[in-house]
Amino acid sequence: MSNAVLRLADVEKSYNPGTPAEVAVLRGVDLAIGRGEVVALVAPSGAGKSTLLHIAGLLDQPDRGRVEIGGADMSGLGDGRRTGVRRADVGFIYQFHHLLPEFSALENIVLPQLANGTARKDAETRARDLLSQVGIAGRAGHRPAAMSGGEQQRVAFCRALANAPKLLLADEPTGNLDPATSDQVFDALMALVRNTGLSALIATHNLELAARMDRQVRLDAGHLVSV
Ligand code: ADP
Repeated sequence: MSNAVLRLADVEKSYNPGTPAEVAVLRGVDLAIGRGEVVALVAPSGAGKSTLLHIAGLLDQPDRGRVEIGGADMSGLGDGRRTGVRRADVGFIYQFHHLLPEFSALENIVLPQLANGTARKDAETRARDLLSQVGIAGRAGHRPAAMSGGEQQRVAFCRALANAPKLLLADEPTGNLDPATSDQVFDALMALVRNTGLSALIATHNLELAARMDRQVRLDAGHLVSV
């Protein structure tokens, strides 16, 4: 047990183990993120950021080591329990928004709440509140195709926070946007994270954005080092 919202201890991960094509991506990663802490994960492409985020978010299993979310060890959990923790406690943001194209911005934020057992009326109230926190209350009825890239990504942030997770994991959340939009959208994300007191691990290539987080860690030859 620990007080960290996310804790990784000696996490190892290889692809194609035991074959000539083996790639040892994580070679003993240790990380603890406290409540309300926002940590930047910086590393060149191919260093293993996505692998690390997938393991932290229970989308993949480490070969060795321990993953704790909210102080609870995830190692022994079956698929059903892992899915439950992921749905309730972890929010994901990707470089591409991955919104459902047939649904409005509001519905994209309501649907994960319905799947988590929230009543529709409460889910809609929360969705509208989140949209106004990121400055796009007026886009609630728009489908993704009728929004700008920055607006689509703001909706994706709201969707990630829809079920009030403990932990946010983001993989290049503004990487698809032009620099000026990226700055504004990143501000919106940070405001949302700070308003909710969420803990976050945010992978980015952008060193200026990384410098605006509480601290930075770098993936270096399969280990995490403080910057
Ligand atoms: P990043 O997100 O930092 O770009 P990734 O975690 O996607 O890095 O990948 C790390 C390394 O592992 C890369 O060399 C990549 O080619 C390799 N890799 C990723 N996924 C797989 C896979 N499913 N099978 C084999 N190799 C993979």
